[in-house]
Amino acid sequence: MTDTDTDADSDTSMSEQISLLGIAADANSSFLAGCALGPAAIRGALRSDSGNDANEASVSVTPHLDDLGDVDIANVANSSDDADAITAAVRGQLAAGRRVISIGGDHFVTFPILRAFREFHTDLTVVHIDAHPDMYDDFAGNPFSHASPFARALEHGCMTRLIQLGIRTATQHQVDQADRWNVTMLTPRQLDRFDAASITGPVYFSLDLDGLDPSCAPGVSHHEPGGLTFREVLDVIDAIPGPIVGADVVELNPTRDLVDMTAMVGAKFVKELAGAMLANPPV
Ligand code: MN
Ligand code: MN
Repeated sequence: MTDTDTDADSDTSMSEQISLLGIAADANSSFLAGCALGPAAIRGALRSDSGNDANEASVSVTPHLDDLGDVDIANVANSSDDADAITAAVRGQLAAGRRVISIGGDHFVTFPILRAFREFHTDLTVVHIDAHPDMYDDFAGNPFSHASPFARALEHGCMTRLIQLGIRTATQHQVDQADRWNVTMLTPRQLDRFDAASITGPVYFSLDLDGLDPSCAPGVSHHEPGGLTFREVLDVIDAIPGPIVGADVVELNPTRDLVDMTAMVGAKFVKELAGAMLANPPV
């Protein structure tokens, strides 16, 4: 990478770069394809002339995003090769001291991502926004199903704490999984129980766009009414005390989107997450 961006260079306190990785994966989706088109749609929204580079804190964040393109995967269901390629790509960025924002792609991507983070962080808290717990021990015989990434990540010790917010589809099996792994699982109605101050250490933020209400994020495969507002999710990000060392924005399905609204929602979260990373760097 050549750092020739004058906006970034002009502010030395914000001189670091954040790696932006696309992961065009949807082969492990249980219901619909289409999320593989997500990275391109979010990039398009990020670059759209309809907005500018600033986040809500008036920091010019977009110049700090180093877009590395898409990870080279075959997008094949239940492929450990695809998972290994994702882990290797993220590992490479973390080894270079970068923070990483990944844009999906379906939620399958988060387990291979967290596998890389496990190599660099022993005290990671994961804050996970979703309509679904994604903790099925087994879903349709595919261990890499987008319904199971947090089961796999918990089994592999990828985090010390998992906090799920916006969950409104938990089956008894998933409630049992949450009990088994001591997961904090809060419905939208319980969002005021989210205790950000109790979080210590670095944070990974995983944002499944179907955690939002479909009225503001219709471009997802699984419409689940009764979700979070954009502002509620932003307030969660703002409340996180520790440094956000990595994040993903997943499950955008552009074939379901309306007037690119969900792409813009995803792009704005990329900007706000980048801003949160820049404002609170790891020590
Ligand atoms: Mn999910
Ligand atoms: Mn979901």
